Amino acid sequence: MRADVAVVGAGIIGALAAYELAKRGVAVALLDAEKEGAATLASAGMLAPYPEGLSGELLEAGLYGLARYPELLAELRERGLEVEAGFSGTWVAALSLGEKEAWQAQDPLPYPVRGGLGARRFPGGFVHPKALREALLEAFRDLGGTYLRAEVEGIEGGRVHWREGALRARFVLLAVGAWGGRFGLRVRPLKGEALLLWGEAPPGPLFAGEGYLLSREGGVYVGATSREGWAEGVDLYGLRWLADYAHERFPLLEGARFRGAVFGFRPAGELFVGEVEEGVYAAVGHGRNGVLLAPWTAKRLLKLLGVEDDAA
Ligand SMILES: Cc1cc2nc3c(=O)[nH]c(=O)nc-3n(C[C@H](O)[C@H](O)[C@H](O)COP(=O)(O)OP(=O)(O)OC[C@H]3O[C@@H](n4cnc5c(N)ncnc54)[C@H](O)[C@@H]3O)c2cc1C
Repeated sequence: MRADVAVVGAGIIGALAAYELAKRGVAVALLDAEKEGAATLASAGMLAPYPEGLSGELLEAGLYGLARYPELLAELRERGLEVEAGFSGTWVAALSLGEKEAWQAQDPLPYPVRGGLGARRFPGGFVHPKALREALLEAFRDLGGTYLRAEVEGIEGGRVHWREGALRARFVLLAVGAWGGRFGLRVRPLKGEALLLWGEAPPGPLFAGEGYLLSREGGVYVGATSREGWAEGVDLYGLRWLADYAHERFPLLEGARFRGAVFGFRPAGELFVGEVEEGVYAAVGHGRNGVLLAPWTAKRLLKLLGVEDDAA
């Protein structure tokens, strides 16, 4: 089997890059190990460059992502693929006078927050990352792209191999998230757990203290814990932290029904989008902001691969 580009990893980074390449007529094979704990499947998908404290080039990249998403979602809608999203802003609630001053939180709270002294609304929004990934994979297949479930074990001279097979590609793109260590990439897992509740959500992502809330599939997503390492699953420590946070901070969630819990390994470390050896590129280390930064990453990868960047 042959491809112009083999994309290894179909989280939001690999899936979006594969879609953008296929849209421009590049023959792409997308290989994914379907690992439990893939960050994209558990992600909140907030598009919140200011509350996340991004600055400099990262802020520019985040603002590019925020501007690009409505177009991308419209493109997918034209293909009959609807993805849950909202762009009415992101809010930071101040819980102390110091925070109120630091955030210049002069707006009213958009949603009841116990101890909240005011809020600040920033440009921003959210997209449902799991639904977005599914839509991108469907569009990718419609464009003639090949998706294979495969755990890649190595890459030598343009040959990508896994236990049951191999393929040849002119370029290889590693988008393996927290699993980059296997390929010598400097990235580490930072586990995040989140709680899904039935209940009333704020009008957009709302940061308050150590956590945040946003709407998800008619309910509420409460995030998130942050712990180093590869321990799989949601444990009692995580559940308890999230439940206490939701219950104590938000009066509307006091009696909210439990719907589920998710976990994922954020690819932590320094963001790297570039060439690692001749013909092999990597895009890893997106940490807490991979959904926000995915459009910028895809644009950068197109440039590195010398593919015309007309639409994005
Ligand atoms: C709880 C939580 C909340 C978050 N909230 C936000 C948020 O609000 N906003 C935001 O922008 N970001 C958020 N993030 C971060 C964001 O989700 C990640 O930065 C992003 O999903 C990383 O995408 P990725 O494609 O690099 O990695 P992943 O989504 O982890 O995908 C990597 C893929 O590589 C595959 N893979 C690994 N090894 C191999 C191999 N050897 N061969 C083939 N395939 C392989 C895996 O199966 C996986 O599908 C959150 C993350 C978590 C966990």
